[in-house]
Amino acid sequence: MASMGEQPTRVDPGRQRSAREYARIQRRLSFLESGLGLLYLLLWVVGGLSLRIRESLSMQLSASRLLPGRTLAEWPAVGLVVLLEAAAIAAPWWLATLPLDFYGGFRLPHRFQISTQTLPGWITDQVKGLGLSLLFGVPLLLVLNLFLRTFPEAWWLWAGLGYILLTLGLTLLAPILLLPIFYRVRPLGEESKDLSDRLLHLANSAGKRVRGVYVFDLSRQTKAANAALTGLAGTRRILLSDTLLATFTPDEIETVLAHELGHQVHNDIPLQILSQSVVILGSFYVGHLALGWSVQAFGYQAIWDPAALPALAISLVVIGLLLLPLLNSLSRWREGMADSYALEATGKPTAFASAMSRLANQNLAELDPAPWVVALFHGHPPLGARLEKARRYAGRAGGPQTLPPQALVGLRLFNERRFFDAHEELELAWRAEPAPARNLYHGILQLGLAWYQVSRLNYRGAVNMLDRAEFWLAALPAACQGLEVEPIRAQVRKLRSEVENLGPSRMGQVNPNLFSPIPIPKEAHPQGEAGATPPNGPDDLSRAGNGGKGD
Ligand SMILES: [Zn+2]
Repeated sequence: MASMGEQPTRVDPGRQRSAREYARIQRRLSFLESGLGLLYLLLWVVGGLSLRIRESLSMQLSASRLLPGRTLAEWPAVGLVVLLEAAAIAAPWWLATLPLDFYGGFRLPHRFQISTQTLPGWITDQVKGLGLSLLFGVPLLLVLNLFLRTFPEAWWLWAGLGYILLTLGLTLLAPILLLPIFYRVRPLGEESKDLSDRLLHLANSAGKRVRGVYVFDLSRQTKAANAALTGLAGTRRILLSDTLLATFTPDEIETVLAHELGHQVHNDIPLQILSQSVVILGSFYVGHLALGWSVQAFGYQAIWDPAALPALAISLVVIGLLLLPLLNSLSRWREGMADSYALEATGKPTAFASAMSRLANQNLAELDPAPWVVALFHGHPPLGARLEKARRYAGRAGGPQTLPPQALVGLRLFNERRFFDAHEELELAWRAEPAPARNLYHGILQLGLAWYQVSRLNYRGAVNMLDRAEFWLAALPAACQGLEVEPIRAQVRKLRSEVENLGPSRMGQVNPNLFSPIPIPKEAHPQGEAGATPPNGPDDLSRAGNGGKGD
C-alpha cells in the first residue's frame, strides 16, 4: 500500500491523450451498435421476417390454433413458440455482435493497457453473462407473454410492477448472489485492520450500519479501481476492489468510500429505484401503444403475438435512448451531491482530488469532455468538474474564517505548554466544528499530547501521537482559519525524527527548543490582547516541508 505522506496524484497528460482517444473509439462503437441494433429490429418488423418465422413455428408445433392459450394444457406449446421466436431474433444478433463485443470489451482495453483479463477469462465471463441472461430472460419472456394475454389493456402496469419488484429484489441480493459469480469476495483481513476500522467508523458516524468491509478481485479483469456500498439495511456491505486497495492511500480510499456513503445518506438507492420505476412504467406504456399500433400496421394476431416482440423492443430501445440525457443528468446531480458529502465528511479535499486523478489515470477518464458527450454518456460529473469542486472546497476550508473562541483558548494553553489542558479545550472545539478545519484542532491537540508524552519519557506514546498529528494535518490547506499549517506540520516532523533518533532509552534528551508556539493571528484577538504570544517565526522550520497545498 502506498505510504501516507506521499505527494497527491495528478492527472497524467499522457494518460489524458489516451483517455480522449479511448473514449472516442468507445463512443463510435456505441453509436454503431445502437444504430445497427435498430436497423436489425426494423428488418424483423418492416421486412415481415418476424411474422413469417412465427407462422412457420406455429405450424410446426401445431400451435396456430392454440395461440390465444386459454387453457393450461395449451401453454407449453405457446410458451415454446414465444421462446423460439425470441431465440430466432436474439441469437443471430448475439453472434453477429460478438466481434464488436470482443473488440470493445477485450482488444481495445488491452490496446490501451487498462485490461488484465486473459482471453479464457473474457470467454468465461461471456458464457456466465449469457447464462444469466437465459436464467432471467426465459422466465421474464414467458411471464410477459402471460401478462399480455391475461391483461391486454393493463399488462404494462402489471409487467411494470413485476419488473420493479424484481429490481428491488436484485438490489438487495446482488452483492450476495450476483457478485460472487464474477468475482471472488473475501473479508478485508487483519492486514488492513486500521483501514477497515476507519471505514466502519465513517459509516457508523453517518448512521449507516454496515456488515463489514470486503475485497473483490477486480484485478483479474482490469487495472481500474472501484468501490461500492451495496445492499440495503441488513445486507449492506462495503466493497473495495483489490486494485483500489493496492494502489490508493488510506486517505484516498476513505474519500472514495465517503462518496459511496453520501449516496446512502442521501437515500439515492430508493430514489434510483423510484425513478427507474417511473421510467419502466412509462416505457411499458409507450410499448403498449406501439404494440397496439403494430398489430394494425403489420397484421399480428394480437399484442401477445410473439411476432410483435421486435416492435415492442424497438419502442423500448427508442424511449430508452430519448430518456438517456434526462437520466444521466439526474445521476450527475446525485453524484455531485455524493462528492460534496465526501468532501464534508472527510475534510480531505487533497486526498479526494488525488483519488479522482488516480481513478482517471487508471480508468482512462476524460478531464473535460464536450457537453453533448457529457449529456449522452456521463452519469458522473466529468473529472474536471470534480477536481474544481475539491479546489473550491479546499479554498473555503482554509478561507478567511477566524478561530472559534474555544480553539483559541486551546491554542493559548498549547503555547503555554499546558498540553493536557490544551487537549481538553481543543477536543471540545473539535467536537463543535463540522468543517474540515476541525482536523486542524485535532492535529494541534495530538502534537500537544506528543509533547506531554515526551515530558513523561513515554517513547511509544509520543510516536503514536505524532503519527496521528501528521495524519490529521496532512490534508489541510497551507493556511486554515488564519493559521499557517506548514510550520505546525514541520514541528511534528522535527519532533518525530528527534524522538526516533534518540530512541526509548534517551527520551530525557529530547531538545525542548524544538517546541515552537503557534503564532495566533491578529484577527483572533477580539479583546485587544495582541502580543500575548510573540510570534517567533522559526523560518528554518517553515522551509523544511514540501509546501502542503495540493492542486
Ligand atoms: Zn457515486
